[in-house]
Amino acid sequence: MNDQNETTMSLADKYMFKTYARFPLTLVRGDGCRVWDEDGKEYLDFVGGIAVCALGHSSPIVSKALEHQSKELVHVSNLYYTRPQTELARLLVENSFADRVFFCNSGAEANEAAIKLARRYANEKFGPQRHLIISMEDSFHGRTMATLSATGQEKIKAGYNPLLEGFTFVPFNDLESLDRALDESVCAVMLEPIQGEGGVVVPDAGYLKGVKALCQDREALLVFDEVQVGMGRTGKLFAHEHYGITPDIMTLAKALGNGLPIGAMLAIEELSNAFGAGSHATTFGGTPLVTAVSKAVVTSLLEDGWIDHCRVVGDYFKGRLEELAKKYDFIKEVRGQGLILGVEMMRPGAAVVKAMMEKGFLINCTQEKVLRFIPPLIVEKEEIDLLVETLENVLDLP
Ligand SMILES: *Cc1c(COP(=O)(O)O)cnc(C)c1O
Repeated sequence: MNDQNETTMSLADKYMFKTYARFPLTLVRGDGCRVWDEDGKEYLDFVGGIAVCALGHSSPIVSKALEHQSKELVHVSNLYYTRPQTELARLLVENSFADRVFFCNSGAEANEAAIKLARRYANEKFGPQRHLIISMEDSFHGRTMATLSATGQEKIKAGYNPLLEGFTFVPFNDLESLDRALDESVCAVMLEPIQGEGGVVVPDAGYLKGVKALCQDREALLVFDEVQVGMGRTGKLFAHEHYGITPDIMTLAKALGNGLPIGAMLAIEELSNAFGAGSHATTFGGTPLVTAVSKAVVTSLLEDGWIDHCRVVGDYFKGRLEELAKKYDFIKEVRGQGLILGVEMMRPGAAVVKAMMEKGFLINCTQEKVLRFIPPLIVEKEEIDLLVETLENVLDLP
């Protein structure tokens, strides 16, 4: 580590809250699936900014849209119409179940909007007693107070009581528990079609269809948090498309801007009136700059074949990880779809992540034992081969 690297790290430690347990690594540049540190050391990046950089780092699609729009109009108030925001909304609506979009700046904010919309709609339609939101154990919906209240992981809620009222939890993949919990006080059921932070937990066959049927039966809204798994990551534009059902509300963020901060909450027309003028707002949500970039990103995902590519290389990657699972008895399971893949081990993953980093590969571990791979969707087979070979070397170590 050179002096400058130490300087960045020590300055950060001195001047910022230590909310992140950061790796001792200062990144300065990226290109495609590669990033470089201050010493010029190259890393293959299978974290991709946590499922954000779908088109990779320094994407010319992003640079071009950014440069063009930055010279046209960067920001005006949402008191006025702007073309990029409108066109992005049309693109999302035309390619989804949804009829209407609200733009914001992050996944948490998109989920806040979903929670507020569901509450307000149910309040108007059924009255204030119908306000409960059911979400899943081990879910992750964000770090604001409302989204934290909706998150089913005690460790990240610790110390923040009192959280918001009106949230309850059932186990993922358990229709009976949901059935019991879904009474007339429930306005919405909120879940990730595949749990990301929870350890790449995939739904059992028929589970999401069952959730949809229960929601329809009890007149509760179905909210899919696709912040992590949306935008092509599973090999379809939206993860729920694999399961033959649609939600009433869907939230997006992460890859939507390929690194520019943007979130979106999409919903069916029936909910439109519940979000009338003055009911919800944000200063930065959907600025011309960010939406122009996002529109270019989404257009590229849809038109340049990246979602099919993701499905093909994702299947290949999963197959190679399954080979590893056969070789090592401490690998419990390989899960996931497309390019969100998890390897659950029966031992902590931190040492594997560290060893991989030393060898020039960035990977992530969630829930302590699940190695998670969420690379750019543009990753190539050769890069996957390099990763798997190196992972095998690391796992071979005593
Ligand atoms: C990352 C994530 C969020 C929170 O998004 P932020 O942009 O960090 O607020 C919410 N839900 C899911 C499923 C996520 O993966």
